[in-house]
Amino acid sequence: MTRTSKVTKNLKQSGIRSASVKCAAIKGINLGQGICDLPIANSIKAAASLAIETNNNIYSPCEGILPLREAIAQKLQQFNKITASPITDIVVTHGSTGAFVCTVSALFNPGDEVILFEPFYSYHRNILELKNITIKTVPIDLDDFSIDFDLLLSTVTSKTRGIVICTPCNPSGKVFTRDELLKIGNIAMKHGLFVITDEIYEYITYPGHPHVSFASLENFKDFTVTISGFSKTYNMTGWRLGYAAGPSDLMSKIALVQDLLYVCPVTPLQYAMLAAFELSEEYYTSMSLSYLLKRNRIVTVLNEIGFNVTVPQGAYYLLADFSKLKFTNDEDAATTLLDQAKVATVPGRYFYLNPHDGKSVLRFCYALDESKIEQALAVMRMCVATETIGHY
Ligand code: PLP
Repeated sequence: MTRTSKVTKNLKQSGIRSASVKCAAIKGINLGQGICDLPIANSIKAAASLAIETNNNIYSPCEGILPLREAIAQKLQQFNKITASPITDIVVTHGSTGAFVCTVSALFNPGDEVILFEPFYSYHRNILELKNITIKTVPIDLDDFSIDFDLLLSTVTSKTRGIVICTPCNPSGKVFTRDELLKIGNIAMKHGLFVITDEIYEYITYPGHPHVSFASLENFKDFTVTISGFSKTYNMTGWRLGYAAGPSDLMSKIALVQDLLYVCPVTPLQYAMLAAFELSEEYYTSMSLSYLLKRNRIVTVLNEIGFNVTVPQGAYYLLADFSKLKFTNDEDAATTLLDQAKVATVPGRYFYLNPHDGKSVLRFCYALDESKIEQALAVMRMCVATETIGHY
């Protein structure tokens, strides 16, 4: 007999979180969790101090302060090419994670089926499982990031209610093309499915792979909730602010769920976020460029060390296949690198329903200062050169 609910019985700490905990304990370099320890823009920090000093301390409307919803609506129009009313179509949330929790709670019933592209972001899986939603998966081929759309179609059953898209994608770095999104949208439309699209890495894309928002295409907006957040674009993973945008009938329920679960998002930081929308175009281009340089460096060195990396098209993660190295499996690879090189990574199994499917990959996150990335690469290179790890 356990003292806690049935749903907690099979829950485990996420592999992403446990890699971070172990890494912190040995003061290692964390290439596991997408923590992103780069600085926040000074103007946003100053706006946060001012918001607190000027006593913006009370609960905000459950859907967030209107000026922030207006700023988000403008950004959605200009950057994402999505028209959304700040009054009825946008809810500011506790990070994009909060947006996903409220959206899933508002749209689906226990026993519904939802399709994830695999490898998936493990919090999407965890949250769906917490809600007793059945997960079906469709693979992303890691050789070329392609998707079999016939398989997607055949995965839809009478119980399917939704498809989750993550673009740019964590963990693979895939950026969905317009053509792929059109194919998904046509299947969703034909079968009356909702689409939830997590676009938190929308500003981090590499040459040749522009970000396309699913809800900007055709009339897909009618059945789509677009989720994004500020954690990654503005280096504020601890601030816990994001948003969801979609048709007003869905958004009113999402706002209600948020009200009943969390009351409202953190008020002073909502005021501070207004400063983020004042940043120049250059902020975004230089951020993307800096991740491009890091991507190029880490991909080159991991390939030299003996990994096989599919070059990411966006976001700041990559999956590296280590079949040519003498690790027994993904857990062994992650543990060995942590013990011997003090570098945390995430075992591939956490991105697949069947752990076996991730047995020969590790996820690396490169949202760190260059010097830390260089240090991690240097120690990993030395470690892999030893007899114990070595190459086959
Ligand atoms: N969605 C994806 C795809 C992510 O990779 C992450 C963080 O790693 C999140 C959401 C979490 O975002 P937030 O900090 O806004 O909750």
